[in-house]
Amino acid sequence: MKKIIRNYSRFLKLTSDQYASASQKNKVKCKRGCYECCTVGFFDITLLDALHLRESLKQVPPHIRKRVLDKANEQLDLLEKKGAFSREDPLLKSLKAIDSISRRSAKMSCPALNETGGCLIYEHRPHICRIFGPTIRGKRRAVHLEGCGYFTRDIPEADFPILSNYKDEEVLLKAMFTKAGKKRKREVDTIIPAALTLDLKKWL
Ligand code: SF4
Repeated sequence: MKKIIRNYSRFLKLTSDQYASASQKNKVKCKRGCYECCTVGFFDITLLDALHLRESLKQVPPHIRKRVLDKANEQLDLLEKKGAFSREDPLLKSLKAIDSISRRSAKMSCPALNETGGCLIYEHRPHICRIFGPTIRGKRRAVHLEGCGYFTRDIPEADFPILSNYKDEEVLLKAMFTKAGKKRKREVDTIIPAALTLDLKKWL
């Protein structure tokens, strides 16, 4: 599994580089100081993102790691108290489950966000954190990734080939499930606080 996580790390770096070039070319950059998307509740991330995040956390300085983990655990305690999430069943298996946790955590910020809007795990952040911002459009202005709405310009798919990016991600996800002994890829996700604090390998 370590090899798959290493390959995923490479995929994430490549994604960031391609996205940075596309943003520069199309002159679309997040507004300085804006971190709204990190403060409006939990979105879903894949199990591979989760395993990668947990593994990468070992590279983060101990005092930062403790801070992020304490916050994540505090948030999971609160969500469990509200009956919105369970550490015993940490997977999101449907759109309904994703919508529900997103709604019920809407006032929570990511546990990795610091007071000044910085990401404490920036080098290791999940896939979606690297590509979210302006809308990405394909041919005939088809929306391939809905952006945050603050942008008046889009990124054309020709500059950031998001469909092939998703395909590469699928290959790695499939490899992860195969390695775990599953015959096919399952549509299961989780949230960042669970990814940081729980060993999700056993849920594969
Ligand atoms: S991991 Fe970083 S970029 Fe992603 S939501 Fe959390 S603070 Fe924001």
